[in-house]
Amino acid sequence: MSSRQKRSREEPLEATETDISEVIDADTDEDEEEEVEEEEYVTIDMSLVRKEVECPICLGIIRKTSTVMECLHRFCRKCIDKSMRLGNKECPSCRTHLASRRSLKDDPNYDILIATLFPNIDKFEEEEFASLEEELGLPKKGI
Ligand SMILES: [Zn+2]
Ligand SMILES: [Zn+2]
Repeated sequence: MSSRQKRSREEPLEATETDISEVIDADTDEDEEEEVEEEEYVTIDMSLVRKEVECPICLGIIRKTSTVMECLHRFCRKCIDKSMRLGNKECPSCRTHLASRRSLKDDPNYDILIATLFPNIDKFEEEEFASLEEELGLPKKGI
């Protein structure tokens, strides 16, 4: 629905000087664009977000978040599992001592957050890797 008004155009021409200025004012109003409601989007620098969701072990986006309870650092469950199996009883990020796997806690809420930010992690990482290859000028396979 438009709130624009036709009225001013239909006003009689035999107006006095004051009336004319009123008509002009009305015309000016008419030319104004209707106010567009501001869209509720924010611009996010995805490279910053990407850093936040990076697993310090595999440097990929965290899959199946496992949080270290002592320091709240996050890793892929697989990555931190592997690290502990190899006998690294410390947080790979800050070296906080980890007595056992009981120091780790799954963080499904974080998984949901990541899934929301990166609905298609595989595709995102594939493109990221492709652009990285390009950046480094690595020769393409098969050439
Ligand atoms: Zn990882
Ligand atoms: Zn840590």
